[in-house]
Amino acid sequence: MQVRPGARVVELAGRTVIPGFNDAHMHHTPDPTGVRLPIDHSLSWDEAHARIAEACAAAPPGTWIFGTMSEAVTNARDATRTVLDRIAPKHPVILLGITNHTNVVNTEAMRRLGIDDRAPDPVGGWFERVPPYGRLNGRIHEYAQWAPQRCFASMASVEEGAASLRTLGAECLRLGITTLQNMSWTPVRRYVQMLDAAALPIRVRVIRFPPSGPAGRLVHEDIDVGAPASPLVTVEGTKWILDGTWVERGAALGRGYADAPWQTGRENFSRAEIMQMLAESLRSGEHLLLHAIGTATIESVLCCLEAFEPPVDWKQSGFRLEHGDGFTDVQMPRARRLGVLVVQNPSHFVLAGQYASRFGTGTRYASFGSLFANGMDVAIGSDGPLNPFLGIWAATTHPANPEEAVDRETAVAAYTWGSAVAEGLQAEKGRLAPGYLADLAVLSADIFSVPAERLPGIESQLTMVDGRIAYESPVR
Ligand SMILES: [Zn+2]
Repeated sequence: MQVRPGARVVELAGRTVIPGFNDAHMHHTPDPTGVRLPIDHSLSWDEAHARIAEACAAAPPGTWIFGTMSEAVTNARDATRTVLDRIAPKHPVILLGITNHTNVVNTEAMRRLGIDDRAPDPVGGWFERVPPYGRLNGRIHEYAQWAPQRCFASMASVEEGAASLRTLGAECLRLGITTLQNMSWTPVRRYVQMLDAAALPIRVRVIRFPPSGPAGRLVHEDIDVGAPASPLVTVEGTKWILDGTWVERGAALGRGYADAPWQTGRENFSRAEIMQMLAESLRSGEHLLLHAIGTATIESVLCCLEAFEPPVDWKQSGFRLEHGDGFTDVQMPRARRLGVLVVQNPSHFVLAGQYASRFGTGTRYASFGSLFANGMDVAIGSDGPLNPFLGIWAATTHPANPEEAVDRETAVAAYTWGSAVAEGLQAEKGRLAPGYLADLAVLSADIFSVPAERLPGIESQLTMVDGRIAYESPVR
């Protein structure tokens, strides 16, 4: 081997090295000052009352109380502003649904977030109202919670954001993640300022995640944000959410949910609006990312792609469909012909019991292996716990639907190369090959051969970004 003078040789002694993980779908939003309630998946709404009351007792009046809550909390019918006002009369409270499709706020939070009782519904979302006067009950769905969430996220200072990003960056390096593709509630200009201040040693792709208003989608939001200071940061692409998720029964199935047959989910936008989204992305030349989970929503997307005139090479345009749990056997070959790339999130597959109760038996759900089998391009994003090794474990065991599991090589390739394809950078990253960026991770165990139960505990021992060693484990 030729060694350039001054170069450092790192002896790997047989360790496994892979291209750095590229998390194609994640949502990092720095918290503003306040009290974050710890996440507790087993918490019921009634039990949440005590946690909120305790937080109020400990924090001066006016302090924000917020937290990510289980579906059992935010989906409880009486999880409303009235009940929250009783528990927290002097603190603004916002409870964020775990899937981020439903939030619950109290009156003080509404006041601070600029939500008026006469607020009309924005396109793509709705406020729940109490008949007969139409007073808002504090439960906010889909695009109705975009503007309030962005307002809330904007309360975090640039310094708070940078600190949160530094913690995230350190965690990424320890886990061998060298690229994050993030969709934040923080408006893009502010998020880029936070990234500039944090100067992370990893690559971050900032994806626009604009809100909507009563008159339509705010397509020009976050467009003119200036150039990021770091060459490792890019701002590219726009994401729109076309339906909810099956967790809160918002994903549009085109039929009833097995455990609530009167609920079918709901599409946030008409097909005419989806056609507009496609046209906008072709005009701007930027990638379009559409969140589509339910079979009916996926059908709407495929119909629009097929009907677009003149016909478009969607693969070339960088079109991405996020999640795609509801893909059917009939839809997959159509999606492959159209060049649709799917970004799936195996971390969700651990919710086996919940999948089973929502979908019942005898239907396909949580499509994954069959996407590959149909020749489609697939990338992986966390959209949940950051740990990619946990993601690889879930992709290769698929607790919710073991038939849809894939082998380790396929999963690792999707989390590296596949995610590079998902940002149109397959000629630059995602492979250990001459001419490719030196983004890589040396692992603490052989990801291709350790027993499955040891996968989630793997770490990176050395993470390199752009040819520089960004992290070395203290224990090697
Ligand atoms: Zn998402």
